[in-house]
Amino acid sequence: RTVYVNGRFLPYEEASIPIMDRGFLFADGIYEVSAVLGGRLVDNEAHLARLDRSLGAIGIRNPHDAAGWTRLQEELIARNGLTEGGVYLQVTRGVAERDFAFPPAGVEPTVVMFTQAKTIANNPLADRGATVVSVEDLRWKRRDIKSVALLAQVLAKQQAAEAGAAEAWMHEDGFVTEGGSSTAFIITEDGRIVTRPLSTAILPGITRRAVLRLAEEAGLTIEERPFSLEEAFAAAEAFFTSASAFVMPVIEIDGRRIGGGQPGPLTRRLRGLYLEMAAA
Ligand code: PMP
Repeated sequence: RTVYVNGRFLPYEEASIPIMDRGFLFADGIYEVSAVLGGRLVDNEAHLARLDRSLGAIGIRNPHDAAGWTRLQEELIARNGLTEGGVYLQVTRGVAERDFAFPPAGVEPTVVMFTQAKTIANNPLADRGATVVSVEDLRWKRRDIKSVALLAQVLAKQQAAEAGAAEAWMHEDGFVTEGGSSTAFIITEDGRIVTRPLSTAILPGITRRAVLRLAEEAGLTIEERPFSLEEAFAAAEAFFTSASAFVMPVIEIDGRRIGGGQPGPLTRRLRGLYLEMAAA
């Protein structure tokens, strides 16, 4: 397995990061995950644009332009012979003596990349449908920044795992914010696709954007508005989206069956449209 650290491709076993890295000490960094299907990156330009925006929001210089990142990602995919899965990349504020405020000028960001093989297109869970549990959203107020500070999501997804569920849907003031690592959607009885509008309360999902575009092109009705847990329990269909799951049907939330416990027809259609787009 070959990984990338600060300009070098090297065996995973030989890769290391100094203990004073601010990513390790403060979670002071940003990450991205792009899907790989058929050996090719999916919607990668949008992921790199979000990376640039996240880095800018916390004042870390983006060490590469989009073309530079893409070259590195493609080389890592080739070196690992990856056909399906994801490329993880992370940029932290670098290595410096531990002190909260930014390090002195000249400290370079730390860049780490690795690939993970995963079955996304033919994931059997997408045929069965995923179960979800709701958990309180314990995160900070800038969830639009894709920060490596993921403790609230670690705890949320552990709660889901202990309940035998595939994902946690986080909620705040009775309304669903998003999944632990995905965007949450429901579909009403009259076929309207509902998802929370973009704000600092959620991460602007790249898959979310693509799915909304595909839904619009298919003439489906979209409502960008917060929805409550109660509304989700009563929904005709539900699903979540992410680069690592694409469109994942939800068949149960907190033990309550959604859509008779089967992936819904509109959800399946959206998954099909997304897969077509991703494979093109
Ligand atoms: N929300 C959160 C909190 C996430 O971690 C993710 C996955 N990165 C998403 C939404 C989905 O984003 P994307 O479609 O860009 O993978």
